[in-house]
Amino acid sequence: MKFYFFLFSVCFISLMVFYSCSAEEEESVAPVVQTPQPEPEPLEYTLTVSATEGGTVSTEGGTYEEGTEVTITASANEGYRFTGWEGNNSTNESLTITLNSNQTYQALFELIPIYTLTVTTSEGGTVSTEGGEYEEGTEVTITATPDEGYEFVGWTGAIESAELEVQLLVSEAKEVNAVFLKILSGTSESIQLCELENYHIERGVGLGYPRYDYSLKSVGNLKITLIFVDFDDEPASRNINDVYNYFNPVSSDFFSKSSYDKLNIEFEVIDKWYRMSKISSDYLSPPDGSSHHSYLSEALSLADKDYDFSTTDHFVVVTNPDAKHFVNGPAFQGNSYWNFQADGKIFYSSTNSGYDLNYWGGLWLNHEVLHNMGLPDLYNYGGDPTWHGFVGEFSIMGLISGFAPDLFAYEKWMLGWLDEAEIFCFENGNVVTDIIPLESYSEGSKMIILPISDMESLIIENRRALNLDQNIPDEGVLVYLVDTSILTGKGTIEIIPKDKSDEQKKNALLKKGDVLIYDNYQIEVLFNTEDFYRIEITKN
Ligand SMILES: [Zn+2]
Repeated sequence: MKFYFFLFSVCFISLMVFYSCSAEEEESVAPVVQTPQPEPEPLEYTLTVSATEGGTVSTEGGTYEEGTEVTITASANEGYRFTGWEGNNSTNESLTITLNSNQTYQALFELIPIYTLTVTTSEGGTVSTEGGEYEEGTEVTITATPDEGYEFVGWTGAIESAELEVQLLVSEAKEVNAVFLKILSGTSESIQLCELENYHIERGVGLGYPRYDYSLKSVGNLKITLIFVDFDDEPASRNINDVYNYFNPVSSDFFSKSSYDKLNIEFEVIDKWYRMSKISSDYLSPPDGSSHHSYLSEALSLADKDYDFSTTDHFVVVTNPDAKHFVNGPAFQGNSYWNFQADGKIFYSSTNSGYDLNYWGGLWLNHEVLHNMGLPDLYNYGGDPTWHGFVGEFSIMGLISGFAPDLFAYEKWMLGWLDEAEIFCFENGNVVTDIIPLESYSEGSKMIILPISDMESLIIENRRALNLDQNIPDEGVLVYLVDTSILTGKGTIEIIPKDKSDEQKKNALLKKGDVLIYDNYQIEVLFNTEDFYRIEITKN
């Protein structure tokens, strides 16, 4: 049985092989037949469009044939804005898409921020809107209208402009303020009305009219000859040029700047130490009038042998600054009897330095020569209760090393350094006027005088960190009383408010909005810019 099965298998396999060979033969000879294919179905893609909260889209999409162009548009609801597409970089609200794949887009919206605009106004005018809540990006027009008697100064805050009408783009919370200001009113009286009487000239200095007859001239070119002296017991060890450097250029610069170039100092140095006849301690220091006169006369006659004094205007004796016996350098104010003569020239005043030159430096000379020109001391002689309680660190006549050494406007007026056009002389009523910084070379009003009596005036000036006052720690309006019945070193000028414990007076500077009442006057600082302070004065 097994045998037969095997035989059958062989036969069957043989048959298959045969058949197979026979099929290959048949194909290799038959012609190729092309069978026609059916048209393919067109491809389709899906477009999906959606919107975030705050807006809608023109279509939600669907199924489109490949290559179809579809335009989708995003629209924001009120209070919202379109910001772009998720799925596309375009920020255009309208997007045209060509379908060649499945695509998904989402229109993005956000809430538009709301900001508060606040519009305020100073006294003296109105504004077209007080502001409110605005969507970001809103442009708001605001108009300022001044009341009668006021002018519009400008907008401050979010807008800096002097235009009456401005457009403001709301991009954040903003505040703007319309500033109005009283219009200038009133005119200055003739300056003579504001000249104080000279109650009493002591030591040849004072702040009234007429000025001291023998005062040194303070306007124009002034040649000052410097005479250097030493002693057998205190021979000079410094060379003259080193000592001269105390004054050069500090002293002449001070006069140029304080006088607005109305006074021009030229120093002439006699290049020699003159030996005085006595030892240093045999001279009285501080001197009395007579010993002072003889000290200065001796120095002048020593130098006269070498120098022609006929062409100079003034002489100053520089004592060996290492001679400690001469504690300070006072000014000598002479007259028709007490004076100095050389080469036919009469000098009615002079001064000599002392050991304190090393402390004060060159401005010592300015202080003493300003005495020779007739200005009094403004610090408190004897220091009771304080040395600088009258004018603090203002004016070189108050404190040589003070932070504001420029002279008071009133002192400058005495010296002929302020013109009538720079002075506002008030008499009665109400005025609104501007004052420019005292230290400025600009033209404009630099001093307001408010007369109180024949010997008393209130003075208003504007002090700023400029020129000689560059180290002043604060700026503002200074008000002070000039009283010609008070003598040198006793408070002939006193800053208001009076406070003898305040030896600096920087806190006395008035600012915008400050009101000071003194005697019958009310002084209000209305406003200031870099260039001026506007002041309103009322006399009741
Ligand atoms: Zn003095």
